[in-house]
Amino acid sequence: MAAVFRSLSSRVVFGKGALEGIAEEAAALACRRVMLVCTGSQAEAAERAAGLLGPVAGPTFAGAAMHTPIEVTREAMALAKAEKVDGLVAIGGGSAIGLSKALALRSNLPQIAVPTTYAGSEMTPVLGQTEGGRKTTQRTIKVLPETVIYDVDLSLSLPVAVSVTSGFNAIAHGVEALYAESPNAMLLAIAEESLRLMAHALPRIVAAPGDEAGRAEALEAAWLGGWSLANGGSGLHHRLCHLLGGAFGLPHAETHTILLPHVVAYNAPEIPDALARMGRALDAAYPADALYDLARSLGAPSALKDIGMPKASIEPVVEALMSTGGWNPRPLDEAALKRVLRRAFNGERPRMESGGG
Ligand code: NAD
Repeated sequence: MAAVFRSLSSRVVFGKGALEGIAEEAAALACRRVMLVCTGSQAEAAERAAGLLGPVAGPTFAGAAMHTPIEVTREAMALAKAEKVDGLVAIGGGSAIGLSKALALRSNLPQIAVPTTYAGSEMTPVLGQTEGGRKTTQRTIKVLPETVIYDVDLSLSLPVAVSVTSGFNAIAHGVEALYAESPNAMLLAIAEESLRLMAHALPRIVAAPGDEAGRAEALEAAWLGGWSLANGGSGLHHRLCHLLGGAFGLPHAETHTILLPHVVAYNAPEIPDALARMGRALDAAYPADALYDLARSLGAPSALKDIGMPKASIEPVVEALMSTGGWNPRPLDEAALKRVLRRAFNGERPRMESGGG
């Protein structure tokens, strides 16, 4: 039977100094007055973007926060309405872009995303929002930014620790796309390449944070990783990260970094083709171990207990996970997953799980 694949697309402007063209990009979207959104620490970058936008720059909302809390969205929405803006510019990481998406969902305003981390949200039609300690995720084309500007200059200031963990967030997008429910040749090639690029870029960035070529390689990897998530979907790994992020406010990128090797080891018996591609991209025989060793060699955290997960939550989290729906190449095995999460909690090496009590 024939398979049908339609890829999602947006306009991507990639290159050193690309931000200089932001006014033309806003004009191409027929924007006359945009609202800029960012996190507090990216206010300076937003100010620069506003300067380049000139008279098109409206207000700046600098209160974006991780996991897109609904209260923050309401506050920003009120400002957008009061100021009668007709477009959004998100400058920053996944938190700024998440807020912009949440606003686009409610207003249909066009978005320009200017990513400054490697989280990849700018390429996806996915929005995660948090309300009352619960993170819910939805997929709708309404939130996919129309235009994305990747400018390596903006990522040079990204602290090494955040570079590594948000780089692992991108790697996680590629990994889960490699065992997507409905794979196709284009998706697999792009996902594999995103892994290869990021695994090559991160050690360069750690060795020399100002290495523009390494930074550009990581941005490309983030682009391809985000595209892979957008077009391939995700599995157990993303579900578990969202559960932990929503329930305990765990930092998103660190959670991805710690959990990924363990989820790859859990899924390993069911994903021989994906493992072969991961092995090729990472130049390693055992991808789960290679991911664990790469993260450690780059100084990333390796234990959930060190980033704020309460020990008593291991069992309830897995129990909650069992009632989430969605794709994963290996069925969820409660007893095995409790062992997996215990290992990730303690920072142990990943281990293949044969399943059962
Ligand atoms: P983030 O956006 O919270 O940024 C982390 C920190 O780094 C913030 O304090 C930010 O101000 C700072 N920062 C960002 N860029 C910087 C730079 N160039 N220089 C200095 N500091 C900089 O973190 P993130 O990991 O990019 O994003 C996490 C959020 O994105 C989570 O809410 C997650 O759910 C979401 N996300 C969504 C998707 C999706 O497809 N919907 C994909 C990935 C991540």
